[in-house]
Amino acid sequence: PPVVAILGRPNVGKSSLVNRILGRREAVVEDVPGVTRDRVTYQAEWAGREFTIVDTGGWEHDAKGIHARVAEQAEIAADLADVVVFVVDAAVGPTATDEGVVKLLRRIKKPVFLIANKIDDFNQEPEAAALWSLGMGKPYPVSAIHGRGVADFLDDLMEKLPEHSAYGGMIPSGGPRRVALIGRPNVGKSSLLNKLAGSERVVVDNLAGTTRDPVDELIELGGRVWRFVDTAGIRRRQHMSQGADYYASLRTQAALEKAEVAVILLAVDERLSEQDIRILNTAIEAGRAIVLAFNKWDLMDEDRRRYLEREIEQDLAHVEWAPRVNISAKTGWHKDRLVPALDTALESWDKRISTGKLNAFLGELVAANPHPVRGGKQPRILFATQVSARPPRFVLFTTGFLDPGYRRFITRRLRETFGFEGTPIEVSMRVRE
Ligand code: GDP
Repeated sequence: PPVVAILGRPNVGKSSLVNRILGRREAVVEDVPGVTRDRVTYQAEWAGREFTIVDTGGWEHDAKGIHARVAEQAEIAADLADVVVFVVDAAVGPTATDEGVVKLLRRIKKPVFLIANKIDDFNQEPEAAALWSLGMGKPYPVSAIHGRGVADFLDDLMEKLPEHSAYGGMIPSGGPRRVALIGRPNVGKSSLLNKLAGSERVVVDNLAGTTRDPVDELIELGGRVWRFVDTAGIRRRQHMSQGADYYASLRTQAALEKAEVAVILLAVDERLSEQDIRILNTAIEAGRAIVLAFNKWDLMDEDRRRYLEREIEQDLAHVEWAPRVNISAKTGWHKDRLVPALDTALESWDKRISTGKLNAFLGELVAANPHPVRGGKQPRILFATQVSARPPRFVLFTTGFLDPGYRRFITRRLRETFGFEGTPIEVSMRVRE
């Protein structure tokens, strides 16, 4: 379906308008940082036509200026939308920020609908007319809260919507999947990001990178849009000074918090370091889907290959379940392999095993491999269930504590049987007397 991006300052009523279009009552609370950024797209329908709404939300109340946020929204709109809906608070009138948006929209060169919101009754219509001054064409007088004027606007919107979107199929229904690119300084994170974003973007982002705060980057890969989270920390030159490690680790944490899947970058021109492993383990502990990317493969030679094999066997044995890709961020070699690896990891991360299947599997496994008898006792597994996904978590109800070795055995077979490639899984026990 075609894509409609909604732009506007905080508190102009964007969320109310989105809810009105979707025909919902509940408000999306946009004032709480982080609440709307998770859900950026919605499927909407009007007059029998479907379209995708991209809420460019993501406003956060922090020290950085509002203009940076506007630029970010406009960039998303420019990249993804077929039509842009620009919401202004008509009761307040055009602000400097609104005028900034207008400047950006002129450059984007896409159809724009100007919504004069908060026109709750007829007497306020002159306030809407005042927005002609923005030079964005006809202001639509709307009351998102009461619904006034929304139908007229939507009727006109339908006429401007293209039949087929240049972008629509690229946005997954739950919104773009969120990817964190992490790794120690100099493994090639920013090189890879630039390579993935394409050369055109690099110029823009290098300029913007000097002023922008932690920002997400929307990048099209393999015909879909992905959200690379917290990329500002990657773009900024990493000054090696005292405490740099500390800040790097804070950034890693922040990115992981927002991400669904982590691409752990490791560089093959050096030995794996403790820091590499620590970063990897942080991602596993955070319960994120994991992809291991071995970068700088253009520098690979026989010696390094031998090291690497040993390192994979020793230091990476605990993540033998993670998909591995060999890449060169410098040349772009194998960058296409990232998408299938991300897909595999996320599919596992999302997976739910029905209780029936799970218990059938365990029944057979335990019958063939009973728990060893300890002190005349043999704990039994009564029942198992998957209590959650993302990542998958299982609970075993047992008659006594299972040996750690036995638990590992069960976890491993669970992995192999159901194919949890690329996701940590957690198996815990509840002992029933
Ligand atoms: P970051 O700190 O993780 O963002 O790493 P950078 O992307 O800044 O890269 C650090 C250095 O490694 C730079 O000099 C890059 O040019 C270099 N580099 C990154 N990726 C590759 C690669 O695939 N091959 C080679 N030969 N050099 C690379």
